[in-house]
Amino acid sequence: MRSAKTQPYATKKLRENPSLKKIWDATRHDVILSLWSSAIFGIAASIMTTAYELGYTRLYLDPAQYSPGYIAFSFVLVLLTQDTYFYFTHRLAHHPKCYRWLHKGHHHSNNPTPLTAFSFDPGEAFLQAFYLMVAVCLIPMHLSVLCAVVFVMTLGALIHHFSLRMFDNSPLGRWLGSWMIGPMHHWFHHRRYNAHYALYFTFWDKLLGTHCHDYESILEPPITDKPNKPLLSIPQQPDTPRPEAQTLSFPVPFKKAS
Ligand SMILES: [Zn+2]
Ligand SMILES: [Zn+2]
Repeated sequence: MRSAKTQPYATKKLRENPSLKKIWDATRHDVILSLWSSAIFGIAASIMTTAYELGYTRLYLDPAQYSPGYIAFSFVLVLLTQDTYFYFTHRLAHHPKCYRWLHKGHHHSNNPTPLTAFSFDPGEAFLQAFYLMVAVCLIPMHLSVLCAVVFVMTLGALIHHFSLRMFDNSPLGRWLGSWMIGPMHHWFHHRRYNAHYALYFTFWDKLLGTHCHDYESILEPPITDKPNKPLLSIPQQPDTPRPEAQTLSFPVPFKKAS
């Protein structure tokens, strides 16, 4: 049997039996930060509404103003640019000089829940809302496209923090899982910190070396005859220091994830 010292970090954490107080503290923390985030996104929505009234945005209400093809194109364009923006700001947030005040709140819980989805420090909430405020001013966008993007962003954030497997083991499931961010993909980020920074797609992680191609197999529980093993564990991973303890260079440290 492994000693506690040699047990992998994530496995140790998962095997912890958190007290009710710890669960309550984590829940209260996530709810408080989510309320702050909601307030900041609410202020951003009012600013966008005012900017629309004053004619500073490129939002439009008449579907005939652009072709149906453009509506679909603008939806994909906004998602792709948001994914890119999120990837780089997320990496910036993990820089030791930014982490404590910009992103530490989101990583408060080692076992994220849907309540963690919008548990952002105010600075990070502003950064994410800022993207939407700039996008509506630069990209001609039907109001329904903006609503669809906010819906996808919200639903995606909730799903990514469920810590459940979303893609099955079929060829289609594996293909989707290799290109789209799922709960297991993001759960890995909450464990490793130095991998899986993107929001919707794995493109940037793959291109910049922060994607673990074998993360699914790493997350598999160890083959053992012992019953009641935790569903999720990282048996092969050594302890990973918290980001504030790492010496990362800037701009973004493109360290190979695997
Ligand atoms: Zn997260
Ligand atoms: Zn992070």
